[in-house]
Amino acid sequence: MTNLRIGHGYDVHQLVEGRKLILGGVEIPWERGLLGHSDADVLTHAVMDALSGAARLGDIGRLFPDTDPAYAGISSMKLLAEVGRLLKEQGCAVVNIDATLLAQAPKVGPYRQKMAENMAAALDIDPEQVNIKATTEEGLGFTGEGTGMAAHAVVLLEKTA
Ligand code: MG
Repeated sequence: MTNLRIGHGYDVHQLVEGRKLILGGVEIPWERGLLGHSDADVLTHAVMDALSGAARLGDIGRLFPDTDPAYAGISSMKLLAEVGRLLKEQGCAVVNIDATLLAQAPKVGPYRQKMAENMAAALDIDPEQVNIKATTEEGLGFTGEGTGMAAHAVVLLEKTA
């Protein structure tokens, strides 16, 4: 049996006024931000769900319940670091991460490298193992209308223990 484990993650958050826009641990200047219990970093949440899935840890809702005041306003990079710790406990090493942000605006191209570096630092891996990309949905649906953002992520883990 192979020691490779694939995982997929998906997340959505609503865009509202009066919130910071944080994606991949980068604060991006924008007129609105994502609504959520934590910092609502939708991209990082999709990555955490993919990692949790691959390691059979369930999902981030189970790991970090949004009813727990300990996670109110928390940086998702801290949660990602905790997922990384749990992965190591399970004997799982990250092979690579590929994440896609679905957003009509703003353009996040200039921040992609920093996002990859932030995620890599939280997981104690090399930024070369993390790929971040973004697409619009051509004005269609809730991302196209700008009422929310979504993110998908796939990861590959290797079970080393
Ligand atoms: Mg979320």
